[in-house]
Amino acid sequence: MEFLVVSRPLYLRDHHCGYCHQKKPRSQAISLGSWRDTYNNGSTTYPESTTVGFQCESMTAQQYDSLIQLGYRRSGSFLYKPDLLRTCCRMYTIRSNWDLFTPGKEHRRDINKFNSHLGIKKDDSRHSRGYDIVQELKKSQDNGSLVIKFETAKFSEAKYQLFVKYQASVHDDHKTSRKGFARFLCESPVISEGEIKDGKVISYGAIHQCYYLKDKLIAIGVLDILPSGISSIYFIYDPEYRHLALGKISGLNEMLLSKELGLQWYYLGYYIEDCPKMAYKKKFGGEILNPYDMKFYNYDIVKNGMKDGGLFSWDPERGIDIAEEMFGVNGSSFVEAADCCKWIKRRWETDYSDKKWATLENVNDDDDDDDDDDDDTMFQIPSVLVGCLTLADVTGDFERLQRTKLKVFQIGKIEIVEFKDLRPRFKRTVIDLIRLLGWDLFEETVIYV
Ligand SMILES: [Zn+2]
Repeated sequence: MEFLVVSRPLYLRDHHCGYCHQKKPRSQAISLGSWRDTYNNGSTTYPESTTVGFQCESMTAQQYDSLIQLGYRRSGSFLYKPDLLRTCCRMYTIRSNWDLFTPGKEHRRDINKFNSHLGIKKDDSRHSRGYDIVQELKKSQDNGSLVIKFETAKFSEAKYQLFVKYQASVHDDHKTSRKGFARFLCESPVISEGEIKDGKVISYGAIHQCYYLKDKLIAIGVLDILPSGISSIYFIYDPEYRHLALGKISGLNEMLLSKELGLQWYYLGYYIEDCPKMAYKKKFGGEILNPYDMKFYNYDIVKNGMKDGGLFSWDPERGIDIAEEMFGVNGSSFVEAADCCKWIKRRWETDYSDKKWATLENVNDDDDDDDDDDDDTMFQIPSVLVGCLTLADVTGDFERLQRTKLKVFQIGKIEIVEFKDLRPRFKRTVIDLIRLLGWDLFEETVIYV
């Protein structure tokens, strides 16, 4: 069996948010009405950008696919997802496919502009009727001016130079090293490499889709080819062609590619409702991952809950948004977590007496000077985390937990330790990991120390 090899979970807080730059109204940055009241009454802190994640050493494409269904994404070998309750910009997993997509005026305009730059004649039909978007999208390749090639996700000097140019011009980032580029866009923890040949998936994994204009590398789509679809990791392009909306053209190409390969979905990464830069994603006809049941729903069904960037939790049976009921300061999740903390303290008194718990209070605590000292005395992740098992879900099943075995990779071999024999610190790590991965995926997990 191939294991999912991960490090201990990390809970990360960043004062700087790359999406809102701490500039949107505080009320909008706070997830729920009741949280707004809590913030307004005491703390003056602006919510930070918060994520939970772990370094992944190795995994199969199927395991990675399962993690995407739980709302994770990867950056190099780091797997992460937002803490939707406490982060300033709520990032929801979005996916779509060619059949859900209705091309709009904007898509036709982008394609026409791109084609005309390559000297390709415009379709005479100006209306949607008669406009064959697939045909138009492929014209640039058919006439030989643009060559799109699949290459292994390996480092090359040309790719690196394109990245440097892109980062400097588009993200004002002038410190891109070869190592940083390789770690971010060339390395993948998926054990197989992606391979596509003659319109078929030969192997799942990471791949570079390289765009060459008259033999010059002008763009790269970094993709993960997975059993349930294509996941877009990043897209870089030559800023000289900025006016050609290459990002959107590549998105259309990638979604069409999923269909042509017989894959069901195209994962566009995260979507933030109140981030104007992301508006193009919903125009791909997307579905959003619902944190309540970890199932995808059409954007139109859940959009009200996301209004102004809010936190939603869609209850399909009642047909209502129950985010406040679940995750509000008096919501069921917090009541459950509080009860659970008391219960654990009683049950495992020897292990946990005098220990701190990552509750609502101490996660909002701005004092992170002694984080290292806390390392041994508290859970890494908050006791309530949207889209993860709650503390009560895991510790409440005491019998199952006692039967659980932890696979630890150290000094070149895997050791199996029973939960009851673990040191308190590892017990907490096991509980954190089960909460983040679910029981089934945890069975396949090895922790790397
Ligand atoms: Zn933000």
